[in-house]
Amino acid sequence: MLNDELKDLYMSKINIDEIEVTGKMTFVRVDYNVPLDDAGSITDDTRIRGSLPTIRYLLEHQARIILASHLGRPKDKPTSGMSLRPVATRLSELLGHEVIFIDDCIGSKVASLKQTMKGGDIVLLENLRFYPGEKKNNETFIAELAAGIEVFVNDAFGTSHRDQASMTGIPKHVPVAVTGFLVRSELEHFLTLMADPQKPFVAILGGAKVSDKIGIIRKLLEKVDTVLIGGGMAYTFLKAQKFEVGNSLVENDQLDVALELLAGARDLGVEFLLPLDNIVARKTDDDEVKTSTVRNENIPSSWMALDIGPETARMFSDKIRKAKTIFWNGPMGVFEKEQFRNGTIAVAKAVTESKGMSVVGGGDSVAAIKMFGLEDKITHLSTGGGASLEFLEGQILPGIAVLTNRK
Ligand code: AMP
Repeated sequence: MLNDELKDLYMSKINIDEIEVTGKMTFVRVDYNVPLDDAGSITDDTRIRGSLPTIRYLLEHQARIILASHLGRPKDKPTSGMSLRPVATRLSELLGHEVIFIDDCIGSKVASLKQTMKGGDIVLLENLRFYPGEKKNNETFIAELAAGIEVFVNDAFGTSHRDQASMTGIPKHVPVAVTGFLVRSELEHFLTLMADPQKPFVAILGGAKVSDKIGIIRKLLEKVDTVLIGGGMAYTFLKAQKFEVGNSLVENDQLDVALELLAGARDLGVEFLLPLDNIVARKTDDDEVKTSTVRNENIPSSWMALDIGPETARMFSDKIRKAKTIFWNGPMGVFEKEQFRNGTIAVAKAVTESKGMSVVGGGDSVAAIKMFGLEDKITHLSTGGGASLEFLEGQILPGIAVLTNRK
């Protein structure tokens, strides 16, 4: 999967604790793309907490700290409800230290602040995506962001697969660009998972779509002993095997791919397990919704399969408990609704009961683990969904590749 070249590439990057940062003007690209409710309050501050080790380290060394992130998908201009201002308040509470918020990320305010900042000052810039230059990797925008910066730190693992101004542009304009503690920890865990996994290695994949995960399944087949498939994506595999799956989520253009993956698993001697039974309902959007448990051959024509059934949950849990290495991405059902949550709960519990190393990636599986209060029992909860999948597929993450190599 990850060949030695890729491993060398990632591990040759300098970490923040290997360079002199005292007093330095430091630009830290963080991932503060946090969920906000309608009132603008942060509903999950995990990403902010994830950045604390790097910020605390820089504070201890009296660096001048500029933090920058994107939030949501603004239309290249200031957009209400997507300001990073609430993040500055929360970060300040968590650090017990003032965080100066600037309502812009470039321009005269930022330029004059850079002139007056002292060691230990922390500044959070406004949402980078309020400017089209961020996504377009615009040179003028990059030059403004990079002006006066002595050290660039990538601590935004979840954005490291993006070739955008603040990720790949700034590092080319500064004397040294390094990983922060969060990114370093992500790299180490994923490299251990892929380069040195203890057997049995079980991969659990769920969530909505097969098409999002074909690349990762193909790569994982080269490494794992067992693949467990749940969630909406399971029904494309079942339909490909000629089961009638009613109104369940199916990607009809992926049926051949599903068959190809099943054949690939057979050829490689990898156990590839699909649901045996399912929780089905006519609809999802009603709390009183009537559900039924049926085996694959009995999914009624106008019903949808929305969770794995108890027999499947037991089968999956048995495999998971015996694993020495586990990678999990994607829920086993529509876990947002209580009626369709049991499969995901069972899998989450089994993961925590295994004695092996467990890595959980992807927003929804991480959200599920937190919903069940199991986060302390997982070896590594990744902050990067898309980035972790691209990493495991063996793609080079541009936001890491661009960082400075150790001599
Ligand atoms: P993903 O982003 O691909 O990991 O997909 C996560 C989403 O898949 C969650 O919002 C789940 O509600 C949804 N999901 C999981 N299982 C099913 C299913 N059987 N049918 C429809 N949606 C599902």
